[in-house]
Amino acid sequence: MKINHLVVIGVGLIGGSVARALRHAGCVERITGVGRSRENLDRARELGIIDHWTHDIAEAVHDADLVLVAVPMGAYDRVFSELAASLPESALITDAGSTKQHAIDVAKKHLPNLSRFVPAHPIAGTEQSGAEASFAELFEDRLCILTPADNCDEQAVAAVEAMWRATESRVIRMDAASHDDLLAAVSHLPHLAAFALVNAVRKQADASDEDHDPFRFAAGGFRDFTRIASSSPEMWRDIAISNASALVKEIDALQAELADMREALTSDDGEKLLEAFRAAKTARDAWLEKHGGSL
Ligand code: NAD
Repeated sequence: MKINHLVVIGVGLIGGSVARALRHAGCVERITGVGRSRENLDRARELGIIDHWTHDIAEAVHDADLVLVAVPMGAYDRVFSELAASLPESALITDAGSTKQHAIDVAKKHLPNLSRFVPAHPIAGTEQSGAEASFAELFEDRLCILTPADNCDEQAVAAVEAMWRATESRVIRMDAASHDDLLAAVSHLPHLAAFALVNAVRKQADASDEDHDPFRFAAGGFRDFTRIASSSPEMWRDIAISNASALVKEIDALQAELADMREALTSDDGEKLLEAFRAAKTARDAWLEKHGGSL
């Protein structure tokens, strides 16, 4: 796979890591970064992630071979409207957004057709943001899910698949609706639950004196459970809003589990609680055993 001119719109953790990985794999000639923050783009150039940068999407993409959109979901509408104006017919587009139906809906609104847009979601990340946090190995052995629409050109899908494979991702294909339902359960809900738990403790802390501040006593369990509550609030607002209906169903499912546990506590039903804890431990241990090697 050889890309002459790659344009990365949003040179953050994900966009920067794709650029680094493709450069490391030796399959890209020239990389232009597009973004809003001059400081971040200057840093990306200093670090050798990109060769040039501009704030102007239309100017960047006019001779692009491949465009990667790696901005927060809330910026998609503006980015796609600007890139559609000067994108060459031959150029391929992919993205890295965490929700796929929204990406397809926005692309459909602005692009003349979806034949060369191959939506993607690399299942890899950290709670850090920005070019500085990016690294070439981020995608190694991680899944990357492609969700091409039915009228997508098969050659375009194959070329974009080769690009993501060059980052060392394990690429699979799926329809966008299934992707959004599955990710609501195992990614979007955990983030909401982590934000909610920290807020519940924060409110108790606000009402306590220093000696009784619950954060003073929080240890490994709290740290593990809440690591992802340090993620970018803006990015997660956008993800949640763009996958609201699937996420609401998952919140209902979690609330039902918690209601059962609450009921077991108020009725002093240790057996019921033990059954729920054992089932969860068995499922998590099995998941770790089967899939933990690629975490
Ligand atoms: P990030 O904050 O590190 O980078 C996003 C970049 O986009 C920033 O440099 C920002 O300046 C730029 N940007 C924002 N609005 C813009 C606009 N209108 N025009 C041009 N640039 C703009 O975020 P990230 O973690 O790299 O996430 C990027 C995308 O990848 C998001 O859609 C996110 O949902 C998705 N994603 C994130 C993760 C993760 O764990 N961080 C994992 C998989 C997918």
